[in-house]
Amino acid sequence: MTEVINPATGAVFTSVPSSGPEETDDAIERAQRAFPAWRAVAPGDRARLLRRFAAVVDVHVDELAGLEVRNAGHTIGNARWEAGNVRDVLDYYAGAPERLTGRQIPVAGGVDVTFHEPLGVVGIIVPWNFPMPIAGWGFAPALAAGNTVVLKPAELTPLTAIRLGELALEAGLPEDVFTVVPGKGSVVGTRFVTHPAVRKICFTGSTDVGKSVMAACAEQVKRVTLELGGKSANVVFADADLEKAAAAAPASVFDNAGQDCCARSRLLVQDSAYETFLALLEPAVTAFRVEDPSRETAQMGPLISAGQRASVASYVQQADVAFTGAAPDGDGWWFPPTVLLAHSTGDRHWREEVFGPVLSVLPFRDEAEAIRLANDTSYGLSGSIWTRDLGRALRVSRAVETGNLSVNSHSSVRYWTPFGGVKQSGLGRELGPDAPLSFTDVKNVFIATD
Ligand code: NAD
Repeated sequence: MTEVINPATGAVFTSVPSSGPEETDDAIERAQRAFPAWRAVAPGDRARLLRRFAAVVDVHVDELAGLEVRNAGHTIGNARWEAGNVRDVLDYYAGAPERLTGRQIPVAGGVDVTFHEPLGVVGIIVPWNFPMPIAGWGFAPALAAGNTVVLKPAELTPLTAIRLGELALEAGLPEDVFTVVPGKGSVVGTRFVTHPAVRKICFTGSTDVGKSVMAACAEQVKRVTLELGGKSANVVFADADLEKAAAAAPASVFDNAGQDCCARSRLLVQDSAYETFLALLEPAVTAFRVEDPSRETAQMGPLISAGQRASVASYVQQADVAFTGAAPDGDGWWFPPTVLLAHSTGDRHWREEVFGPVLSVLPFRDEAEAIRLANDTSYGLSGSIWTRDLGRALRVSRAVETGNLSVNSHSSVRYWTPFGGVKQSGLGRELGPDAPLSFTDVKNVFIATD
């Protein structure tokens, strides 16, 4: 059994079973046996089942959100959005089964057609920072494309995934089509990667574990999608709407207590606007409400664990603190929003993914230097650019090496647009119209007519 802790209080409030290797193999093999019947479900019927699954999730949004507040310390507002996101992603990909069309390619002496064949069993490995959305981004398109799914939630945050597995059955999905297997990464996750019946791994988590998963997948040429770490830049040019950029900056890095792979944790400000911008930023940071995440007014809750808090604190100890916000005292893994001045790109807090409410700031001279500094990282997941110059917005958008960018905003992930990283932030794309294709292989068939 694994104890489940409320990060806002530090108290254990329940426990869940931790699956061993035999239980994991059993879940995978049941999913393998369920696959032929699931892929044979008529496209319209598979679509209807996914819509029903979405409808059942919708009825349980408040329940799921409550679980996430307790288990992950997410603010109630965020948690409701996350449960609603699972519903919406299911609804969106419920449109996919009837649209998984192949091509007819002109050839001599016959007809050539392509099919998008489902892969079989897909293994989805989820981190603790966004337990619901990341699960849904994997299982919804995978199921829509005709695969069966085994899903491993993170050890710290298993509750919503387990509940979603129950809701799938309640919605009428056949047994073993979608199975949640809670347990350790080194046991359940490793077995997903090594079991030959699992034909694709969809991994979201740290870059180090992602690399080892990718290496192990190579053994069986197993398909793999990786969504890994980030150290995204928020680039503010002097010609930007500075008030708007400063007001938006805190949420872009402190949302989910900074435990967000897309956190804009490196703030680059053009030197001519640097002092003005920091003066505008300070009140926005100190006003950021860090409180009991079940309160409707909360903008930020606690960190996920004592270990995470110690890790985040280690980045701040030696650094030059510009200013901080407030956080509750007492029990729970609280940490205040913190702004650090970077003195060089070599500073540890500037280079490494802190995964906490810590923003590092550095000035730049001109456009060329902004691009160079933004790209001086092994990551490339997200980022933002603030400017009133449209040409510059487009030039810098094209030049920054990252999978997702927003101009004059910090857009969050939209399920109907593609999402993923470049460099060591990942491999492959999730979401958007093409996601079901990445859970298929193309088969080419030639039919002789002569
Ligand atoms: P982690 O890598 O420690 O764990 C992620 C998942 O992998 C967990 O379920 C864990 O149990 C499992 N796992 C651990 N070892 C494994 C192994 N050897 N084989 C198979 N599975 C194993 O990451 P975390 O600490 O849970 O999550 C935080 C990280 O996730 C951060 O780096 C963050 O940037 C990243 N992340 C990325 C995205 C994205 O979309 N790019 C989204 C969210 C989080």
